[in-house]
Amino acid sequence: MQISKEEITKLLREVKYPGFSRDIMSFGLVRNIEIDRDSVNLDITITTSDTTISDKLEKDIREILLKTANINKVNVDIKLEKTRTSSTVTDSTAGKDKLQNIRYTIAVASGKGGVGKSTFSVNLACAFEQLLAKAGKSNSIGIMDCDIYGPSVPLMIGIADQPEIENNLIKPLENFGVRIISMGLLVDQNTPVVWRGPMVNKTIVQFAQNVAWGELEILVVDLPPGTGDAQLSLVQTVPLDGAIIITTPQSASTNVALRGAMMFEKVNVPILGVVENMSYFEDIESGKRSYIFGKDGGIKVAQNLQTKLLGQIPLSQSIREGSDNGIPIVISSPKSSPAISYLKIANDILSILQKA
Ligand code: ADP
Repeated sequence: MQISKEEITKLLREVKYPGFSRDIMSFGLVRNIEIDRDSVNLDITITTSDTTISDKLEKDIREILLKTANINKVNVDIKLEKTRTSSTVTDSTAGKDKLQNIRYTIAVASGKGGVGKSTFSVNLACAFEQLLAKAGKSNSIGIMDCDIYGPSVPLMIGIADQPEIENNLIKPLENFGVRIISMGLLVDQNTPVVWRGPMVNKTIVQFAQNVAWGELEILVVDLPPGTGDAQLSLVQTVPLDGAIIITTPQSASTNVALRGAMMFEKVNVPILGVVENMSYFEDIESGKRSYIFGKDGGIKVAQNLQTKLLGQIPLSQSIREGSDNGIPIVISSPKSSPAISYLKIANDILSILQKA
């Protein structure tokens, strides 16, 4: 008896993407399944040209399918899908074609939580907005807050309203010329974090497909902390132009940041650079710097990844207050030294994107 598509699908759910705990079906990598008596043809799409991944995938798929009665022949056709550009409309069932009006999409990632990733994302977005406004392109930045464990972007940018739905699309909220959509605006804050875990991928697809972003120059994607599945889900869904890695100088953060960054390399997303946060505390009166979280962690991560250290942000009471009050320091004190650092980093990232 010929095996059914449902049975094949079930078997393929046992095949994990190499290096990840998720299976290839849930990542949406299997594009077509054809069955002809005892032979099965599969079309698989991946985003990495690393042949060890495709070889391992093919081996694992064959092993599982050929163990099954009624299957004697397995053909696996693995295609490489480019992860970037916004003008490349792919046949992906996910959100890629919905993001056509967005010029650049960049991810902000950290291995560990609490290193200041969201604070950075918000200030970076406001800095981009200021720079682009000067070039006559105001209101062209968005933030997609995918940090389901701590969706703090709305608070940091002073938004607490519920988004409206129009023509079946979620309308992003806006403040300081930056459009925002966040899990924090949609999820009941009492939902336990363990239940949110499985929602990461769905959320990212929703945010990419069902949000009326409109025309944007840059979409900043604030990723959940971590080094695994969420990053891969994201690149399967959104065509990323690059990722920025945030770390504090201490090794507890740099080690995980490195692992997180390697995930992007695996799926061919360029690392645009590293930002070191909470680099030092400067005493206003004496100008003396104290390296509370250690020194030089950011540069080490950048060297390891053969990328640039984009900047060092000090530990600053005004940055923290800005986040807590919903007015990022780039908006409240654009001439302050931390704001100047954010603006310089934003300017450098713009140049890197424009040169790519
Ligand atoms: P993450 O997104 O990595 O979890 P957050 O951006 O939420 O981290 O920052 C964690 C806490 O640290 C917040 O209270 C934030 O206000 C504070 N913070 C972040 N960066 C700085 C900084 N450079 N100086 C002072 N406080 C900071």
